[in-house]
Amino acid sequence: MEPIISIDKLRVIYNQGKSNESRALEETNLQIFPKEYVIIYGPSGCGKSTLLYSIAGLQKPTYGDITISGKAFSKMTKREKLELHQTGIGLIFQAFYLIPSLTILDNVCLPKAFRGERRTDREKDGIQSLRRFGIVEQADKYPSQLSGGQKQRVAIARALVNRPQIVLADEPVGNLDSESARNVLQILKELNEVDQQTIIMVTHNPEHLAYADRVIHMRDGRVIKEEVNREKRPIDDTKKVETIREEDPETRELSLLMSSFRSLLPQQVNMLLVPYKAKQLLSHLLSDLSEEQISMAETLVREVLFHNIESKALMERLDLDYDKGGGGWNRTRAENFALRLDQILEQVESLKKSNEEAASGFADYLIAHFHITLDATQMLRLRNVLALRIGSKIGQTELKKRLDMSQKLGGIGLHTQTAEKVARETEMIMLLKYS
Ligand code: ADP
Ligand code: MG
Repeated sequence: MEPIISIDKLRVIYNQGKSNESRALEETNLQIFPKEYVIIYGPSGCGKSTLLYSIAGLQKPTYGDITISGKAFSKMTKREKLELHQTGIGLIFQAFYLIPSLTILDNVCLPKAFRGERRTDREKDGIQSLRRFGIVEQADKYPSQLSGGQKQRVAIARALVNRPQIVLADEPVGNLDSESARNVLQILKELNEVDQQTIIMVTHNPEHLAYADRVIHMRDGRVIKEEVNREKRPIDDTKKVETIREEDPETRELSLLMSSFRSLLPQQVNMLLVPYKAKQLLSHLLSDLSEEQISMAETLVREVLFHNIESKALMERLDLDYDKGGGGWNRTRAENFALRLDQILEQVESLKKSNEEAASGFADYLIAHFHITLDATQMLRLRNVLALRIGSKIGQTELKKRLDMSQKLGGIGLHTQTAEKVARETEMIMLLKYS
């Protein structure tokens, strides 16, 4: 059988050549086969996460290469990598993040939305995924309306909504009591045995080892031992889980999921979110460019969102010819784009600072940007409704409704098209604001 993942002479050195150099992973060779359940096991700091993120393609190898489904990372185009991240690999972390301005269903469908799937198509899968994890009743709510445990399940449903062949989980049951931990482990086991997904789970807890087909033992950045489990933990173990579920659908199983995802750092969350943000921002700003022109811009927008480059540098790269490694845009377009990006990011920054006053500054921005003329009453209502939206007191549908609704009925009375544009701009900024 061909391995689904093949790790070839992989080494990861952080801060290579600097005084704080850290050799996280010594030369590692490893093959993982379809439908396997593999646990990477070892003490804290031994390089487990580094190995897992390398497999995910989130950590670039210092040396060596990784092949997924026959294709090496080093030979993948950006598009192939994107495809792999969108549909090939599902990631489960110790913490979750949900976008507060989106409904539960939209949060779960996010990976599908970014693939450009039609709303009706993606919602069908999204609903199915929510049903599977017992949260379908929450589909139209917003994250703030859910208990912590329910939010956890949403995060898992989202990771799995595109039915990835490979599921990677980093210490998913970190700080849980043993009964709760068993519950999450049960979900992973089911994904492996019923859905036949390849699972790689990182853990430092020896009690988990019985779940896996194979255990990779790590120490000090090396694989020191591999163990094949002849007898996996019997299915019987699930009985208890089922009982808990029936008696107490929320507290146990969900509080466990809650704490299992707690430890993702804000920067890590942002790292995961930035690609989404970049993509949304681009499709918001551009519609007539070629895929290649957009793809390059996407990379650069990510760099801006990660604060690695300034928008001026982005402008210059976009303007540069293709064959010189640039975006192949023309100068004027690149300039306008960078300008627009700056405008939006400026609004994002000021909205991050406060709510009420920020809403009035934001209202001024929208009025100037979309050339809107308003009387005093309309202006007041616009500020109010924006403050509500920015504070996540109302959702995007309600915002659009109030922008569009006639003044007589208590709305702001914008032209429908303008209302839509204003609503879209607001949602974009809400998304970017989130980190
Ligand atoms: P584990 O997941 O087994 O706890 P990690 O893969 O997170 O281990 O870390 C392995 C080693 O690499 C540790 O010594 C850690 O301090 C170091 N390390 C991890 N991430 C970074 C980073 N981004 N920069 C520098 N050193 C890092
Ligand atoms: Mg780790």
